[in-house]
Amino acid sequence: MVRAAAADPQVERIFVNAAIKKALCREAQGDRSWLAKVRPYWGHDYHMHVRLGCPNGSAECKGQERPESGEGCGAELEWWFSDEVLHPKPDTEPAKPKPPMTLADLPPACATVLGGK
Ligand SMILES: [Zn+2]
Repeated sequence: MVRAAAADPQVERIFVNAAIKKALCREAQGDRSWLAKVRPYWGHDYHMHVRLGCPNGSAECKGQERPESGEGCGAELEWWFSDEVLHPKPDTEPAKPKPPMTLADLPPACATVLGGK
């Protein structure tokens, strides 16, 4: 399923848990170029995240940068299994919570979609 999504030209990036990426790197056969679009990312323990490219003629849409070259199965992936990531040191001070995102923080087109303006 991940390979099929990554092979779709409309898909720019797929975020998954690092364990999923590791399994894909281990199991992928033949053309492995699609692995470049599949990247581990924080918070993707219970879902995969498919980021689509901008539709044609969408002036306000900002596309993703091209994925880094390579399959992303080497040192970049191994970092996710390092002690630094698996057993982080506790913060000395608790992090301040981020302020909630409001409609005013989003591009104006989002207000139109949400019916807020
Ligand atoms: Zn996500």
